[in-house]
Amino acid sequence: MANKKKDAPLAGITVSKNEDFSAWYTELINKAELADIRYNIKGFVCYRSWATITIKRMYQKYEAILEKNGHLPLIMPSLIPESNFLLEAEHVKGFAPEVFWVTEAGSSGKLTERLALRPTSETALYKMYSLWIRSYKDLPFKRYQSCQVWRYEGKMTRPFFRGREFHWIEAHDVFATKEEAMEQVKQDMEMTYKMLQDEFCIPIIFFERPQWDKFSGAEKTFAADALMGSGKVLQLPSTHFLGQNFSKPFNVKFIDKDGKEKYGWITCYGPAISRIYGAMIAFLGDDKGLILPFDLAPIQIVIVPIIYKGKEDIVMSKAREIFDLLKDKYHVKIDDSDESVGNKFYYWELKGVPLRIEVGPRDIEKEQVVIVKRHDSQKYIVKENELEKKIDELASNYTKEVREKSLIDFESQIEIVYEKDTAIEAIKNGKIVCCGFCSIDKDGEPCAEVVEKEIGAFVRGKRVDEEKHEFGTCLICGKEAKCTVYLAKSY
Ligand SMILES: [Zn+2]
Repeated sequence: MANKKKDAPLAGITVSKNEDFSAWYTELINKAELADIRYNIKGFVCYRSWATITIKRMYQKYEAILEKNGHLPLIMPSLIPESNFLLEAEHVKGFAPEVFWVTEAGSSGKLTERLALRPTSETALYKMYSLWIRSYKDLPFKRYQSCQVWRYEGKMTRPFFRGREFHWIEAHDVFATKEEAMEQVKQDMEMTYKMLQDEFCIPIIFFERPQWDKFSGAEKTFAADALMGSGKVLQLPSTHFLGQNFSKPFNVKFIDKDGKEKYGWITCYGPAISRIYGAMIAFLGDDKGLILPFDLAPIQIVIVPIIYKGKEDIVMSKAREIFDLLKDKYHVKIDDSDESVGNKFYYWELKGVPLRIEVGPRDIEKEQVVIVKRHDSQKYIVKENELEKKIDELASNYTKEVREKSLIDFESQIEIVYEKDTAIEAIKNGKIVCCGFCSIDKDGEPCAEVVEKEIGAFVRGKRVDEEKHEFGTCLICGKEAKCTVYLAKSY
């Protein structure tokens, strides 16, 4: 291990996450071979295999829970005619600046109607829903698709976090009543907690967004903010109560039990899997590289043979024996490359492989192996005949341990604030501010602009779970406080 420096190219990340997050993230993306930004369209990124395997598993988990909750899959065309788009005025206003348009086709030249590359699929789906939904017996009508969407992002792009093409799931549900639609919004939030917090180990909290920050065309938007631990939050999945804003222009109607024709109540839910992946690796990773929940690691167990001259055969055959023992249950690999043992350790730590098994001649003599856990570097010496049991135990606890370590107590991040100056100070100190606010309806927007300009934070909205704090007046204008809101910086 004396020549560690010489082996530097494989030796992992050189920047500390705490000192320079941005440079750390870029190195992680490059060195762990997650994405390549050299593709020659700005904001369009190649996802490499190590990331793609994990992303596909995240999709599988999400699709399974959606289907369990009554959603059926479908696949929609990626182009939307402009005429569909123009049907909902608020929606078109919100999305127009970000749409990629297809205006020409092959040798026939200009198209008679512009076609949008879908930035989201309301205007594609609801046009079809109006043909598919006839009667109350068709309701609830719950569908989802896993697909790419395209938005011409003006902000700086970063692989997975923000790009001009991203990968997501969108679920669009129609109900006979407003109450059922609001129940769905609740179920969407529960699914989000189950997936993001339990499976992907990202701590979140849901806010009802202010009216000026809702989804274009929605009546209400509920969004999960990931707690990144620095007072900064990151918006992750959001679920929207669209009311009848879309069912009216798109004619999504049904004949109800009483024989009357009525408009459906619609909700939509959009977990952006690529962004969740970005948040997960950014949040869980450390200075050695990736840390992944056990189920999501492309390789879960790596076996590293420690080869000494003359002992090659005995070490390799033991490594293969262990491989055979575990291969049906786990994603296992033997690293029999020519790299030094040290480099192999660095490399698989960088890749976030949860468990490493070291097989050396001395351990073979003692009928034991060494197991090292990635997320906390804990080392275990295990007798060969207890290996399988120990691996099962470590594997089944791994994600829970990562989750517990990453859990951020929302309450401990909050500072209760009554004065603007105190709020500025608190935000500077990396806190999330809890304060009174005049309104999260349109009339509160001027105060939100002051929050942005003078406090340097955003109004994230009203928390969805129980609110314990009450205020008499708005932090900004001093008028009566109609609600309690949270202010934070965001990524
Ligand atoms: Zn105010």
